[in-house]
Amino acid sequence: MAAKFLPTNQLASWLAELSGQYRTLVPRREGDAVVFRPFEEAFAPELGVRPTMSTKASVFPKCEPLMTFKYEKDEEDPGKVMVDVTERRDDAPAVVVGGRPCDVAGFFTFDRVYNTEKIKDLNYLARRENTFFVSLACEQPATTCFCNWVGGGPADTKGADVLMVPVSGGWLMEPVTDKGGELVASLEDGKAKEAEAQAVKDKANAAIGDAVDVSAAQDKLLALFDDAAFWEAQSSKCISCGTCTYLCPTCYCFNITDEKFGMEGVRMRTWDNCMSALFTMEASGHNPRPTKAHRLKNRVGHKFSYYPSLHDGNIACVGCGRCIKSCPVSVDIRAIVQNAIAAPAPEQEG
Ligand code: SF4
Ligand code: SF4
Repeated sequence: MAAKFLPTNQLASWLAELSGQYRTLVPRREGDAVVFRPFEEAFAPELGVRPTMSTKASVFPKCEPLMTFKYEKDEEDPGKVMVDVTERRDDAPAVVVGGRPCDVAGFFTFDRVYNTEKIKDLNYLARRENTFFVSLACEQPATTCFCNWVGGGPADTKGADVLMVPVSGGWLMEPVTDKGGELVASLEDGKAKEAEAQAVKDKANAAIGDAVDVSAAQDKLLALFDDAAFWEAQSSKCISCGTCTYLCPTCYCFNITDEKFGMEGVRMRTWDNCMSALFTMEASGHNPRPTKAHRLKNRVGHKFSYYPSLHDGNIACVGCGRCIKSCPVSVDIRAIVQNAIAAPAPEQEG
């Protein structure tokens, strides 16, 4: 499919055109943060910096109603109560413009859990199938980026429908899927910008540097499972704020709550946070992960060891670096993984 050119001064009109057909989300600056919001002409999209939030909420909202329910007493037999349930499913077509290649890659971590032969999360799938991504290539990777350690790259197209590459005067829009071709069909031909776009991608790929081999992490993190001293040292700075989980494009845990108003109610799904002490608190008061060392071990171990062991070696981290950049005390997941790989093998008992 032919690449197209989007001049800077036509960005707003192209987004307005998309908005006529799709719920169109773009990065918008709000105070110190850059978050995804529906496009509005009054707010220029912020495409110059990496968004604070990932694109995760476009497919997996922070908070969503799964169903409403209503109790009705049988008039003839008041001891009997009927429950009327209405499922809620959002399959309105959406386009997300300006997420980064690592953001889109994050959805593959979800797919392996919510779209399996045995388990189909219908709410997730309705949005996943109807959400299209115009990813923006990273011209200059940040010092916190490490997508190339986990199989990605600054101009990776996996999961994207269009790759948007910054060039002089605008962006080269490279369709990846047929849907992507449709999204950029109205734009002008981009052939004249292709060589420049390739140079931008080559420069970004070179700038991110050599990948560190983390393939040993899967076995090594498991071997360190009972090494309390190791995990206490790695987690000593952590203040259990949960920022890392909320910003992560691959954290997929959720909680379910029923909110009842008299005889009616709504079942809500909300993001959960494994760095919170309440995450594993049981009704008895027992907590199998009572300390922040237990919780950080779980977060890192899940992404680099337990998940890969269940999903053909795929790591549940896309190297976006958000958990490093936004951690208030600079806990660095790269350092923890490397420390685990370098740690002496624990002594075998017996
Ligand atoms: S963002 Fe940092 S301090 Fe907060 S829970 Fe995560 S590792 Fe701990
Ligand atoms: S663990 Fe950190 S670097 Fe990896 S995907 Fe999540 S936020 Fe990004």
